[in-house]
Amino acid sequence: MKTIIIGAGASGLFLASLLKKDYLILEHNSQIGAKIKISGGGKCNITNKFVSEKNYYGNQEFVKEILKNFSNKDLLSWLKKNNLEVNLLKENQYFFKNSDVLLDFFKKNVKNIRLNTEVLEVKEDLSVVTDKGVFKAQNVVVASGGLSFKKLGASGIGYEIAKSFSHSVTPLKPALVGLTVQPSESWFKNLSGISVFAKVKVGRKIFRQNVLFSHRGITGPAILNASLWWDRGKITIDFLNKEVFSYLKNPNKQISTQLPLPKRFIKEFLKAVGVEDKRVKFLKKEEKEKLKLLNSYEFAPAGTFGFERAEVTKGGVLTQELDLNMQSKFRKNLYFAGEVVDVTGELGGYNFQWAFSSAYAIYRSLV
Ligand SMILES: Cc1cc2nc3c(=O)[nH]c(=O)nc-3n(C[C@H](O)[C@H](O)[C@H](O)COP(=O)(O)OP(=O)(O)OC[C@H]3O[C@@H](n4cnc5c(N)ncnc54)[C@H](O)[C@@H]3O)c2cc1C
Repeated sequence: MKTIIIGAGASGLFLASLLKKDYLILEHNSQIGAKIKISGGGKCNITNKFVSEKNYYGNQEFVKEILKNFSNKDLLSWLKKNNLEVNLLKENQYFFKNSDVLLDFFKKNVKNIRLNTEVLEVKEDLSVVTDKGVFKAQNVVVASGGLSFKKLGASGIGYEIAKSFSHSVTPLKPALVGLTVQPSESWFKNLSGISVFAKVKVGRKIFRQNVLFSHRGITGPAILNASLWWDRGKITIDFLNKEVFSYLKNPNKQISTQLPLPKRFIKEFLKAVGVEDKRVKFLKKEEKEKLKLLNSYEFAPAGTFGFERAEVTKGGVLTQELDLNMQSKFRKNLYFAGEVVDVTGELGGYNFQWAFSSAYAIYRSLV
């Protein structure tokens, strides 16, 4: 056996399908690709029309190099070559008709898999210890993913293996996840179910997408993206995308009749900032100031909805300790692919793109 791959997820399966022979995947689930199956609402958002290192949290110079050798265009050509049809939907995102298109391909083309086999440890000589015995190969690829969605098989084994070979693992946090709010934003919770197209700013990143209020706090694509770049500190939301007074042009009409926002949102917002819904001409100066908050509502999230709701894990094996083949600089023949590495993409197919591009770098080095 030349190569053992730990994990039958996106990166491990793709690598195996490229290698074709001399590999063995060890997977503790009873099925392959559990995350692929449910991803993208069951349609698996595989990549994006526009992919650059700027879409990734982590070492962007490193990401740029890895993407160079297997870009979104390369991924799309690979899909086409294998008759795996994708459609461009939403904001430049590529989806399958359903995730089974990709899963069925892997089921057909990746045969050397041992399911129900839990990897426990990798020894110094690269022997892989599992609950079903010890496996030995020349190369070991850790493709065991991150911590989010434990119920789908997520585990911290990849990080443990990395640490046992003296690798640094950067702090692990839930990302692409909803945010919980402080008591000052409890009005968000009264808006549960309402969605608003907004401009969300976190640090230097801006996302123009929907925000969705929920009983736990705030979520929706713009917030999921913001959670990737948020560490501590504030997030700013422009709920209107145009200056508030450009809407409040008629002095004889009430505020709520002139703003292009759901009535329930306006009612709760006005209550939260202490302004009555009245005719615009009766607004006092300080009330006008408060209305400007609709363009720049700042809040400090209390936390996130946690790993169980997060699409990905931010943080992981430090890229500075890997070469451009995704190989450990400390132990030759030990590789890391996909989410276990300290590279996390935004919402929109960037994480599968990373899983595939990083696996491709390993493939090139192994053949
Ligand atoms: C709900 C949801 C929706 C998502 N939608 C999208 C999307 O549409 N587009 C996108 O780009 N990304 C999406 N993602 C993120 C994407 O699924 C992951 O980033 C990607 O699957 C990571 O690939 P990977 O190969 O690194 O890890 P994974 O695909 O997670 O695979 C890791 C594998 O290792 C196995 N494993 C773990 N521990 C052990 C062990 N000890 N022994 C043996 N096997 C083990 C796991 O069971 C798993 O099969 C989504 C994630 C979630 C949770």
